[in-house]
Amino acid sequence: MAIPTRTCVACRRTAGKPELLRLVVGERAVQVDLTARHAGRGAYLCGRGACLDAALRRDGALIRRALRIGDRGVTLDADALRGQVGAAGQETVAAGAVHDAAKEHSGAVPLGSGRS
Ligand SMILES: [Zn+2]
Repeated sequence: MAIPTRTCVACRRTAGKPELLRLVVGERAVQVDLTARHAGRGAYLCGRGACLDAALRRDGALIRRALRIGDRGVTLDADALRGQVGAAGQETVAAGAVHDAAKEHSGAVPLGSGRS
């Protein structure tokens, strides 16, 4: 089965849906959809800092266009979104670091153990 792909609103790179951050319109504000289960239209970001910067430029014009929201009625708080994206990224990095450390540890063979 093919993995559904989505396009980063900033760099137009396509990637598998799980690799991208999903932005949705929440309670009258744009927010990061951390669970990827939020109903409705989503805008996607590939997670690079440059793309977040580009997407947030001009009051989030790229995000607003992708979500088909106008200039009014929906708040797009750049600082709040940066915080949410940062938290999401840190979670991913931390999980990966733990995984790598565990792998290294289990693969380590003590020197001079006499076994090969
Ligand atoms: Zn991008």
